Amino acid sequence: MPAAFPDFRLGNVLATSFTGTLSERHGNPVERIPVPQRLVDWLAVSGLAVDSCTPAQLELAWELREAIHAAATAAAKHEPLPPSAVQVINDRSAQGRAAAVLTPEGKRRWQLSSASSVEDALGVIAADAISIIAGERDGRLALCASPTCQAAFFDTSQSRTRRWCDMNTCGNREKKARYYANRRETARSAQ
Ligand SMILES: [Zn+2]
Repeated sequence: MPAAFPDFRLGNVLATSFTGTLSERHGNPVERIPVPQRLVDWLAVSGLAVDSCTPAQLELAWELREAIHAAATAAAKHEPLPPSAVQVINDRSAQGRAAAVLTPEGKRRWQLSSASSVEDALGVIAADAISIIAGERDGRLALCASPTCQAAFFDTSQSRTRRWCDMNTCGNREKKARYYANRRETARSAQ
């Protein structure tokens, strides 16, 4: 992996892992799939390996990503879904021709119609987003508590009280900020 590109932040939910390829949307945004090859890399680690990606396919991916982000954010806030976002998600879902196949080990794998079909991979991601936004899956859509992030994430914790999209980044930063604030407070009261 070229060191010049930011790492991925992979969660266990496909659609919100995908929206997480752009992070810090309300701060200094970090684009984690800035070039077609990085989308190829992301798809490979997400079980949707493709051989290649064109700049136009990357554009489609970005468009889908922001549509999922907009629709999931609205759903998390219990607001009406933006029609344009719904349209993009539905178009990508309808255009994909991936097939779910069962491996001999009893696992589900996605089989794309051809090795260059980024559209098929995007169809799988769109369908994943639909199942979350439609409330079909066990979990709760929520927004990250970090003010610079506010990413929509899918909370599958038992208590449904997760606050951050990602414990290792947003959660950790918040914990550290609190720790230092407390230390400053302690130092002041000791004077
Ligand atoms: Zn976050």
